[in-house]
Amino acid sequence: MPKKIAIIGSGIAGLTAANLFKNNSNFQVMVYEKEKELSLEEGYGIQLAPNSISILNKIKFHNLENNNFFNPLKLNFYSNDNNKICDLNLDKFNTNKVKYTTLKRSTLIEFLKTDLFLNNIKFGKNVTKVSKVKDKLLINFRDNTNDLVDYIVISDGVFSNTKSVVENKNIKPFYNGSIAIRTLIKDTQHFTFDKKNISLIMLKNAHIVIYPINKRGELNLVCIIRQKLHNNIDLKEIIKKEILSQNKNLESLFKSQLEYWPIYVSKKPSKSIYENLFYLGDAFYTFNPTMAQGASQSIEAAFELFELLSQNTKEVQSLYFQKRLQKTKLINSRSRINYFSFHLSNPLLVKARNIILKKITKSQKFLNSYLGDIYQQI
Ligand SMILES: Cc1cc2nc3c(=O)[nH]c(=O)nc-3n(C[C@H](O)[C@H](O)[C@H](O)COP(=O)(O)OP(=O)(O)OC[C@H]3O[C@@H](n4cnc5c(N)ncnc54)[C@H](O)[C@@H]3O)c2cc1C
Repeated sequence: MPKKIAIIGSGIAGLTAANLFKNNSNFQVMVYEKEKELSLEEGYGIQLAPNSISILNKIKFHNLENNNFFNPLKLNFYSNDNNKICDLNLDKFNTNKVKYTTLKRSTLIEFLKTDLFLNNIKFGKNVTKVSKVKDKLLINFRDNTNDLVDYIVISDGVFSNTKSVVENKNIKPFYNGSIAIRTLIKDTQHFTFDKKNISLIMLKNAHIVIYPINKRGELNLVCIIRQKLHNNIDLKEIIKKEILSQNKNLESLFKSQLEYWPIYVSKKPSKSIYENLFYLGDAFYTFNPTMAQGASQSIEAAFELFELLSQNTKEVQSLYFQKRLQKTKLINSRSRINYFSFHLSNPLLVKARNIILKKITKSQKFLNSYLGDIYQQI
């Protein structure tokens, strides 16, 4: 009898896991999504490093239509006056078939759903209770349906309501003190940064990341600004005060429609009271976005869990948790350093940072230890 797996949430984490388990006849997989359909909102870009691309290739990501993604070869660092400080060679972590990739989140979700739809996803599903029945877990949904399964994978994102239901306590992420503003740059006539690579502009208390998301010339911009959380956020006013006051020339980057959201991060990684229940992706741990590894780690964790369950290993939960904990700590420490150094304001510290950046981006030893362990192909 195949083992039954229920996956709660159909984001990058849940859909990657579903694709992996679906291809193994020892498992029968069903994804339960709260929304009525998959979220394919336009414009939201995502960077995927070689660690996740090597896994996605196992489910044929390499067949994705060539125009729908980009492979930037370097990361350019700029200071707040648009001067380029240095660049970091991303190509160094690439191989022939596995390359650092940027694309729209909707393109990735479209790809992940291709082989699943109808048969493996149920929409409009909200978990109200999880209970143990012998070796299995019984899931009750709000619409009075239920499912008795061998394993549950919870991948319902940063706010993970299901986690609070399962663990029977209120578990909330916390506001990291900054907001993310996003826009899509389609008209690049007056764009002065590198259109074929990633640009990181470091300002006082803010940074901007811009990268191509396809081969049609569209660029994704995300601007992280330190900001107290309040109800009436006026984006134009914030950009004027926090960004344009430092560099008026950046105005042209913010001409298109702007969206924003506050950034929440996890207090600690999640481990369930149930041995056959696993947290995945942002539901396991939500990172500060300054390493651009949230989605890549979701994909990596999905593969780790798939491997452990396929091998029928004992104590899967503790093995999975230990491995994830180690990776989470590694990325978290890097994310904090990045967050701090991208937002420096003291001119002396900025000068020192730029000198150090120039040095370390050329040091193979440093790059291997700072990024190599994270970008390593699986
Ligand atoms: C500003 C910013 C920039 C980022 N940039 C990058 C980047 O460049 N590269 C990168 O790797 N990562 C990036 N990330 C992180 C990345 O987006 C996330 O880590 C990743 O999307 C997490 O995927 P997930 O599947 O865990 O969660 P989600 O994508 O949030 O998916 C959760 C799914 O669960 C569903 N759901 C919610 N509640 C329930 C429920 N109760 N029951 C059932 N279903 C439910 C939701 O509708 C959704 O479909 C960024 C994050 C931020 C904030």
